[in-house]
Amino acid sequence: MIKVVKFGGSSVASAKQFKRVKKIVQSDASRQFVVTSACGKENKEDYKVTDLLYLCDAHIRYGVSYASLYQSVKDKYLRIKKELKLKTDIEKELNQIEMNMKKGVHTDYLVSRGEYLTGLLLAEYLGYQFLDASEVIAFGFDGEIDMERTKELFTQKCNGKGVLIPGFYGALPNGEIKVMSRGGSDITGSIIANVVDADVYENWTDVSGIYVADPKIIDSPMRVDTITYNELREMSYLGANVLHDDAVFPVKVKNIPINIRNTNEPENPGTLILEDCKELDLENPPHVITGITGRKDFTVITITKSHSSTEVGFLRKILSIFEDYRVSVESVPSTVDTFSVIVASETIESCLYEVLGRLKEEVKPDDLRYEDHLALVAVVGRGMKELAGISGKLLSEFGNNKINIKVISQTADELSIVVGVMNQDFEKAIRCIYEKFITEERSLS
Ligand code: ASP
Repeated sequence: MIKVVKFGGSSVASAKQFKRVKKIVQSDASRQFVVTSACGKENKEDYKVTDLLYLCDAHIRYGVSYASLYQSVKDKYLRIKKELKLKTDIEKELNQIEMNMKKGVHTDYLVSRGEYLTGLLLAEYLGYQFLDASEVIAFGFDGEIDMERTKELFTQKCNGKGVLIPGFYGALPNGEIKVMSRGGSDITGSIIANVVDADVYENWTDVSGIYVADPKIIDSPMRVDTITYNELREMSYLGANVLHDDAVFPVKVKNIPINIRNTNEPENPGTLILEDCKELDLENPPHVITGITGRKDFTVITITKSHSSTEVGFLRKILSIFEDYRVSVESVPSTVDTFSVIVASETIESCLYEVLGRLKEEVKPDDLRYEDHLALVAVVGRGMKELAGISGKLLSEFGNNKINIKVISQTADELSIVVGVMNQDFEKAIRCIYEKFITEERSLS
């Protein structure tokens, strides 16, 4: 059994958290490959090291002193070293970075140092080999990860068992450091899991997995035990974000399960993300609904033109206008001669009137209107497939709670139903779905 374990920033925020990490790693001999984020916040008043480094970079660019910001970074690592009585010459590393900053550094190099420094200390503390991500995570010049090359480098450089790799960065073919997008250590963990053919990719964070609904809206919502990659994608697209979106692909192609775990509650089994949950579902059938998610602030543009449904290319004509302004379209619910185009408000804010003008001119609609402040609520669940009455139950629940539905859409895979309501009804909608489909169902079973 091989496990790749990735620890997020809050899991390595202090010496106390390092101790928890060590306990977790040592309690299971298969946890041989560790990936770490940079130290995160120790408490609400604290700052993430990566954020501080981005700020240092901005200060350098504007010629403003970054001394006190960098001092906070230094203090953090010196404190961890001292408290854990480590020997790594972290002072030398910190000074080297400072010297490079004086010479003028490249942003990606500077902001990747959080993972690098955390990795050095954690590797010593665990007694693991430190494998610098710039030596093994290979980017192509197109900015994409070169999996073949990464595998080749990893096989050459890895001593075998007990290896620690800092997350979030790698190197371009010319050796220059390149970082992934924010939260990218999740991706590094997933790449390593792919490369070593892991049996499980454990992603340790500060929540006990994925919740059925946002805990900011529902008090102590249920944890999701198992979820498919596709359900997760639906959930995270509209709001729930426990894992970086791009972390799914490298493990999905090899069917490696991801287990989201809580460093502060290691006995909790967390959430297991799988390609296919059928086997587990036989023993432990899921709720009809796996999760409820959503986002506020969408704009709906509604175009009506008689006989447009039979006009070949009509929809393409509409969509190409959005494409010209690089506005991505979320959904296009339609009836006979009416099409509603739903887009995130922030993406169309700067060009709304131009888009409306072009629609008027090029599509010549009988009626054209737009509305802001729409929220999309998605009900996601593999258990809904071929089960009659789910949308009926959902819609009547909205009716009972006097929530007006602006749009509805569901695709034929029946994995999710998306309902558009006004922003002000968003939380109420999520609460009433949770009550009907989770609380009531639980009290019946
Ligand atoms: N430290 C990086 C960030 O804050 C990457 C990560 O934590 O995954 O975005």
